[in-house]
Amino acid sequence: MSPQPAAHSTQSDAAGRLAGLIRDADSVVALTGAGISVPSGIPDFRTPGKGLWENVDPMEVAHIDAFHRDTARFWQFYRPRFADLGSKEPNPAHAALAELEARGLLRAVITQNIDRLHRKSGSTRVIEVHGSIETSSCTTCGSSYPLERVEALFDEDGVATCGCCMGKVKPDVVLFGEFLPEAPMADAHDLCASCDLLICVGSSLEVYPVAGLPSVALNNGARLAIVTQGPTPYDRDATVKLEGDVVDELRAVLAAL
Ligand code: ZN
Repeated sequence: MSPQPAAHSTQSDAAGRLAGLIRDADSVVALTGAGISVPSGIPDFRTPGKGLWENVDPMEVAHIDAFHRDTARFWQFYRPRFADLGSKEPNPAHAALAELEARGLLRAVITQNIDRLHRKSGSTRVIEVHGSIETSSCTTCGSSYPLERVEALFDEDGVATCGCCMGKVKPDVVLFGEFLPEAPMADAHDLCASCDLLICVGSSLEVYPVAGLPSVALNNGARLAIVTQGPTPYDRDATVKLEGDVVDELRAVLAAL
C-alpha cells in the first residue's frame, strides 16, 4: 500500500461517504473497541509485544476462577493497571463521537472498552458491555465502590476488602469465564436491531457475543460502516470502510458533515 496522494484522496472520499450516511440516517449507533483508545496510550492487547498480556497468561490472572482462588495475585496484576487506566484521558476520536451525540446525530455508543473514556469525553449514552473500571463491588454484600475509593480498601495481603462485611471486592469488569452482563447486552442488541446505521470503530469484531451485533443490525436492514485498521469479518458487508488512523478518520468525518 502506498501513502501517496491517491491513498489520501481515497481516505477523504470514504470520510465524505460516511458523513453522507450519517446525514441520511434516522438512527445512528456506534460500536467501539480497543482501537479507539490506542491514541490515549492504552495498547490493544492484540498488538504483539505491547499488549496487556505480554508476560502474563490471562487465564491465570484475569479469570473469574483465578480471582476466587488467588485474589491477592489477581489484584497484584490489576491494581497498577487500574491506577494507570484511571489516569488516561480521552482522545479526539472519543470527542468526535461525543460531538456527534451532542449534535443529535448519534443515539448511543456501545463499547467493549472498560476505560470509561467515552463518558469522560462527554458521551452520555454509553453501553459498556464488558463493564467498566468505574466501580468495584463486594462479592458478598454487593456494596459498590467508585474507582477512587478502591485503593483505600486493600489489606496487608493486597486484597481489596469490603468496608462493610470484609468480603472480597471485585472490579465491575467482565473477566474471562464470566458471562457478559445481561442488561447492557440486551440494550446493545435492541440498539443494533433498531438503528439504520451502525458505525464500528476500532474493533476487529472478532470477540463474541459483541461480534454478533453487526449481524443484528444488518439483518434488520441497517447499513454498516467500519472505521478500523486491519481486516474484520464484516468488511464485505460494510457500505464504507475507513482504514486510516482512527483520530484522522473521525475528524475527517466531522469536517465533512
Ligand atoms: Zn461487603
